[in-house]
Amino acid sequence: MATPEDTPSQSDSTLSGCIRPFLTKSGLTVRCQSRVRSQCPSCAELYRGDWAAIARSGVFDGPVQNFRFYLLTLTAPSFGRVHRVPKAEGAKVSRCGCGARHSVTDANLRGVPLDEASYDYAGLVAWNRDSGLLWDRTRRRLRDYWPSVEFFVVREWQDRGALHLHTLVRIARAEAPRPALLGESARTANAFSKVDGAFVSWGEQGDCQAFRADGDGAKAIWYLSKALNYVLKDAVRASGGGARSWGHLARLSTAARMVRCSPGCVPRDCPSHTHTRYGARGHVVSASRRTKNRTGWSFTGMTRKRQRELRSEWVTAQAARAESAPAEWAVGVLEARAGRAGRELRSRVDVLP
Ligand SMILES: [Zn+2]
Ligand SMILES: [Zn+2]
Ligand SMILES: [Zn+2]
Repeated sequence: MATPEDTPSQSDSTLSGCIRPFLTKSGLTVRCQSRVRSQCPSCAELYRGDWAAIARSGVFDGPVQNFRFYLLTLTAPSFGRVHRVPKAEGAKVSRCGCGARHSVTDANLRGVPLDEASYDYAGLVAWNRDSGLLWDRTRRRLRDYWPSVEFFVVREWQDRGALHLHTLVRIARAEAPRPALLGESARTANAFSKVDGAFVSWGEQGDCQAFRADGDGAKAIWYLSKALNYVLKDAVRASGGGARSWGHLARLSTAARMVRCSPGCVPRDCPSHTHTRYGARGHVVSASRRTKNRTGWSFTGMTRKRQRELRSEWVTAQAARAESAPAEWAVGVLEARAGRAGRELRSRVDVLP
C-alpha cells in the first residue's frame, strides 16, 4: 500500500548523486527514491541513512538513563527442512539433512528445501502475508505487559524466502523485564489470519538481547551502530528471497501468485504486490509513531517526511541566497552542500560527546 512517504515528493529537491532522477507532471525534477542499491546507490544510501538517523534518535535524543534497550529477533516457523550451508569460510559445519557437509561454495543451496516436492510453499507465502498481522498482535501484547514500550523494526529476508524481524525495543527502566522474558513474550504471541483463518505464530529461533545506552557512551554507540548495520544491511537490497536457487524462487513465486491476499482476492487478476513479493507486503522499515499519549520511537518526533522537509527548507534557503550567483556555480555549490546536509542529518551520533 502506498503512503505519502512512498510517493516522490517535491520536498526531495536535493538531487545530488541520484542516477535516474525524473520529471514530474508539474515540471519538477525529483529523486528516483529507490531503496535498491543496484538501481540507485545514492537514493538507497539516503533511505538507509534517514532510517538510521531515526533509529539513533530513539536511543540518544532522550534521557537514556531512564530506559533499557533490547535487540529482538523473531523468525518464521519451519515449512520443511532446508540445506544448511555455512556463511563464512572456516565456520563449524554440522552435517546437513541431505547427508553432505556443505562448504561456502554450496551457497546456491543455502535455504533451499531438501525436498522441494513436499515443501510447504503455500504455507510460507501465506505466513509472509500474515506476518504483519502477527507483528501487530505481538506489539499489542508487549504494550499490555510494558506500557512504555516503543519499537524500531526492520524486516529482512531469510535465505529460504521467509521474512524475519529485527526490532530495537525501548522500555522504561522502571518496568524493564529480563531479555529472556521479553523474548519469550514476543515469540509466543499469535494471530489468526484475516484471509483464511489459519493460526499464525513465530518460529522457535527467536532471540532477545539487552543493551544499555547510558554509562559508557562510546560502547553504547558502538553497539547501536553494530545493531543498526545488522538490522539495516538488507533494507537496501532488492526485495526478494535470499535463496539463490532459481527452482526454489520460481516455486515461491508461483505460490505467491496463487495465494489470496485478502478475503475477496481473485489471485489471477489481482494487482497487489503481495503476489510478486513472495507474499510480503508493507514496509521494510518502520518505527512506532508519536501519538497524543505516546512518545513514539524517536524522542524528537523525527520521521522521514520531516527529514525531507528539512532538506527541502535548507535547499530553498540556499537557492534564495545564491540567486544572484552564476547558475552553474550555484548548482555545484548547492549539490555539494545538500550532500553534506544530508550526511550531517543522518550522522548526528558523530557529534555526541
Ligand atoms: Zn535515485
Ligand atoms: Zn544439504
Ligand atoms: Zn490479491
